[in-house]
Formats: sequence, C-alpha cells, structure tokens
Amino acid sequence: MQLQGAQVTVFCGSSSGHDPVYLATARALGAALAGVGATVVYGGANVGLMGAVADAALAAGGAVVGVIPEGLARRDITHHGLTELHVTPNMHARKALMSERADAYVALPGGYGTWEELLEVATWRQIGLHGRPIVLVDVAGYYAPLKALVAQGIAAGFMAPALGEFLTFVPDAEAAIEALRAYAPPERVVGKFGG
Ligand code: AMP
Repeated sequence: MQLQGAQVTVFCGSSSGHDPVYLATARALGAALAGVGATVVYGGANVGLMGAVADAALAAGGAVVGVIPEGLARRDITHHGLTELHVTPNMHARKALMSERADAYVALPGGYGTWEELLEVATWRQIGLHGRPIVLVDVAGYYAPLKALVAQGIAAGFMAPALGEFLTFVPDAEAAIEALRAYAPPERVVGKFGG
C-alpha cells in the first residue's frame, strides 16, 4: 500500500511496560510513520506507549490524530499537542471513528485495551467489513502467546487456516513499515460467511 498520505491507526498500551525496548519501539514506530508521510491515528492519550508514539511522530514532523472518549478526556491524560483531537461521547463512538480513519492498523504491546481493539478489527476483517492490513509489532516476543492462540484456534477447528493470515507479526518498527508497504489489499473483501 501507498504510505504517503495514508492514515495508520495504532493500538498500544497506555502503560510503558518494564523493558525499555517497548518505549523505544513505540518511538521508532511513530518516527517511522511520520518519516513515510503517514498520519498516525491513535487513542489521544499522553501516557505510556500511546504518548510515546504520538510524541515521536510529532517530533519527526508528522500529523497525529487523537480520538479519546469523554470519560478518559476528563482524567487529564489527553495529549494537547496533537494535529487533531476528537472527543467522542463513549468508547464505541471512539472505536468507530478510529476505524473509519484507518487505512491500516498497527498494534504495539499493550493490555486489555490494545487486545480488544486489535481483536475487534480482526473480527471485522473476518466477516468482510474491511480488507485492511493488521500488523502486530511483536516486540521481544510479546505477542508469541497470541500467535500460539491463533494456531490453537485453527488446530481445534474454530478458525479456518486462512483467518490466521489476517494478522501479520513483525519484530520491529522498521519491519512494520515494510509489511504495510508490501500489503496488497484484496480485490474483493469476502467474509467467512460469504461476500
Ligand atoms: P491498554 O492496552 O489496556 O493500556 O489500553 C490501551 C488502548 O486502549 C489504546 O489503544 C487506547 O485506544 C485505549 N485506552 C486505554 N486506556 C486509555 C487511556 N488512558 N487513554 C486513552 N486511551 C486509552
């Protein structure tokens, strides 16, 4: 896909993790996305990996769009230096807007919030609602258990093998950019129950 002018929605932790490699990778991803002319769309907070991605993209001259629900915005963790900030009435409206604004999704390490967002866009992909790439930055093997869970889903017959291909695991920020660049959207998006 063409990255110049693309909007890339990044899901990542509102915490930083213990190992400094997580923050370093978040910064590298923000800077790399800005470097290729992509706009970062993310959850709008100034904390954890979220803040790091946004700050690095802004510092590299990139555009960053934050989408934060009212409840979280009130808790003073909103990033006030963004190119655009959208405050939505609730989490559902936020996720809808983050997804609408996306040409691609990239996930860094994170917790429930990150996993939920990531698995939601994978679910939408499997029922044919979009044909966008979903790239997971498997920093220091963080996502190995998810990779194993997907393999388990396939082995146990809950997922067709083709569904495993919706998630692209890469080791670092640079490889995430390469995976996005190499992505060719399907000509026709077909869901698992038909198109
Ligand atoms: P978690 O991985 O549980 O830290 O959640 C991070 C993800 O959930 C982000 O991609 C956000 O979209 C959303 N999220 C969770 N906590 C916050 C927060 N404090 N501020 C903004 N977004 C958040």
